[in-house]
Amino acid sequence: MPELPEVETIVSGLNKTCLCRKIKKVRVSCPALASPRGGLSALAGDSFVSISRHGKYIKITTRRGARLVVHLRMTGQLFLAENYQPDKHVHIILELANMAAKMYYRDIRKFGRWQIVPPRKNFADYINAGTDALAVTPREFRALCRRYADKALKVFLLDQTILAGVGNIYADETAFYLGVDPHTPVNRLAPEKLLKAVTAVLRLGIKNKGASVSDYITSTGARGNFQNLLNVYKQKNCRRCGTPIRRVKLAGRTTHICPKCQK
Ligand SMILES: [Zn+2]
Repeated sequence: MPELPEVETIVSGLNKTCLCRKIKKVRVSCPALASPRGGLSALAGDSFVSISRHGKYIKITTRRGARLVVHLRMTGQLFLAENYQPDKHVHIILELANMAAKMYYRDIRKFGRWQIVPPRKNFADYINAGTDALAVTPREFRALCRRYADKALKVFLLDQTILAGVGNIYADETAFYLGVDPHTPVNRLAPEKLLKAVTAVLRLGIKNKGASVSDYITSTGARGNFQNLLNVYKQKNCRRCGTPIRRVKLAGRTTHICPKCQK
């Protein structure tokens, strides 16, 4: 599933290429992806003026004032491509003016959502998430650590209503960065150190255009690079010390731990 760095990479890529371009044509072959159904047809003739992110959610505003919240969920891919032959998993195509490339939304599992925000509602009404993990202030973060002091580190990091953006990949890598077992309760960690670790790992992910461990691709259809730098997540041996990685279930998710580097 795309996490904060993957979504950030997609958003910054789209910002560079398709802002303010008139949407000539909208084709939707899986109406259930949009809410309300049929709502995306109103985008024809409009253009995107702002594309940003909160956690793993993409926020879009159009010139006419329409707003959209897009969530890629498990397997959603949002990219621009030229001379591309869409397969049966491409469900939304936007044709943009003066641009050879079209915007494609491809989603094998079809869990993604394109939510149109009604005029009297806010983005926040459709974003079920706490403060963005890269926007949280040290003060806010300390308060969160106090409030959720008893939670295991990984549970704390994965809960999107506490902090938005960290998923399984970056939670495991953050615990590795800290050199602690992800079962460690939050109150055993210094909030400053924890925030520094979260920020460092997410920023490294962004710098490397995200981790293509499953379906994720960037806005140009390329693979990211962070999968090549992972220390523990889905690794056989620890990248740093070579010790075989231990896999356990935590918060219902497969969790990767180096028994030597993480005490
Ligand atoms: Zn190790």
